Amino acid sequence: MVSRVIPVDPFDLVIFGGTGDLARRKILPGLFRRYCSGQMPETAQIVGAARSDMDDAGYREMVAEAIREFGGGRACEDGTLDAFLARVGYVAVDAKGEGGWADLKGRLRDDAVRAFYFSVAPSLFGDIAERLQSFGLATPASRIVVEKPFGNDLATAQALNATLARHFDEHQIYRIDHYLGKETVQNLMAVRFGNMLFEPLWNAQYVDHIQITVAETVGVGGRGSYYDKSGAMRDMVQNHLMQLLCLIAMEPPARFEPDAVRDEKLKVIRALDPVDPHHIVRGQYEASAGDGGYREHAENPRSTTESFVALKCHVSNWRWAGTPFYLRTGKRLRARTSEIVVVFKDAPHSIFGAESGRHRNVLAIRLQPNEGMTLDVTIKEPGPGGMRLVDVPLDMTFAKALGPEAADVPDAYERLIMDVIRGNQTLFMRGDEVEAAWAWTDPIIAGWQKRGEVPKPYESGSSGPEDALMLMHRDGRKWRDIRA
Ligand code: NAD
Repeated sequence: MVSRVIPVDPFDLVIFGGTGDLARRKILPGLFRRYCSGQMPETAQIVGAARSDMDDAGYREMVAEAIREFGGGRACEDGTLDAFLARVGYVAVDAKGEGGWADLKGRLRDDAVRAFYFSVAPSLFGDIAERLQSFGLATPASRIVVEKPFGNDLATAQALNATLARHFDEHQIYRIDHYLGKETVQNLMAVRFGNMLFEPLWNAQYVDHIQITVAETVGVGGRGSYYDKSGAMRDMVQNHLMQLLCLIAMEPPARFEPDAVRDEKLKVIRALDPVDPHHIVRGQYEASAGDGGYREHAENPRSTTESFVALKCHVSNWRWAGTPFYLRTGKRLRARTSEIVVVFKDAPHSIFGAESGRHRNVLAIRLQPNEGMTLDVTIKEPGPGGMRLVDVPLDMTFAKALGPEAADVPDAYERLIMDVIRGNQTLFMRGDEVEAAWAWTDPIIAGWQKRGEVPKPYESGSSGPEDALMLMHRDGRKWRDIRA
């Protein structure tokens, strides 16, 4: 039982950076899967645009290879792939020069939705935006999709917003954070705002604390020197973790519409207190048997960039005053998992006596792997022996509850690209949201630099530095185990 596929209107999608890593791993295989599912009209057109000199046939070969390698899936053999490739073309374009733009314009149709995906380095966003206007490719209804990172701090994000605003209106700009495209993230809104059960308890009176964990098992790999200029705070917290925090903490919007939702998210970011430096732990992974540590991977033996960060923060408003939010993310951790955990308070009085132990309701919202939710409920342990209590999870893993087809939901990129074509900005970040997030993050990073702080080493395959465990332990709380 999966919600039915609603086909989108005919579109021309130009992927700048169409030969790059992101296009090959995510965007093109994702488009193919949407094609297989019947969501993409036969008249859709996808045009790769990048620096390499290549013709349509060469690009189609590259796209076919990418789809085979990165999970195009089921229908590759039965002619569907060829039918999809017939919708794909290529134009060599120089983002910083004159070459290719007129040719690209000649490929676009007047009667189709027009979208331009900027899957290139952010330093090229301005050049491409400018040329889309000066060569007459952009219409008032055209959309542009921009990838992360959106700036490196508040000043650069403001500059980037200003550059894009010179050429496009805000309603044309789709800033991608692929975490927002995940099925569970939308389900989180359905659970909060579609049920009577949770919302009355969703506040400081009933919630003890909230944990958000995004753990990866991989290190910085081949991206070491790029990552070293960024670190976990900029790469993960400022965007993905803060977006999740917003969705968990926001007030109910009046309607599920782009600006109504984004207004509420913005209010959460603006209500965040500055973080006490004692409430943040940074870490760097150490070498493990057979593999180097962070500094080796970053090719910077004195690097002070963090590959792990854990922090405690507060949303200062009526709903959340006094409820801590603990955020944690890192590389080379024990398991790959993304999870939001809402821990409810103890019952005010136990009629079962102290010997029944401590029991709490815990709602765990899992983004990956095995998207779904569990709610720990306290019940009587079955059998004789009196009133012994035990916590059991009510399992709302989609595949179990809704049948195996439910596990076959579109991945985040697929869903978001279809939203671009539909013109729905709900799951995309608005310019002021991104700036507010940087305004909160910048002083944290500046504080580290000013104090000359060095990240704590942590063992690869662990849960991060010991100090991160202490961050919660000091408050009489405990992180949920990082497990796949
Ligand atoms: P990449 O280096 O693999 O590809 C870059 C693309 O840009 C290539 O197609 C190249 O031909 C094109 N290009 C470079 N200079 C050009 C020019 N002057 N004119 C026209 N085309 C030019 O990069 P990527 O990993 O695919 O990343 C693209 C964007 O997506 C970046 O902003 C990156 O931060 C972001 N991003 C990537 C990933 C990922 O997993 N790769 C994840 C999240 C965000």
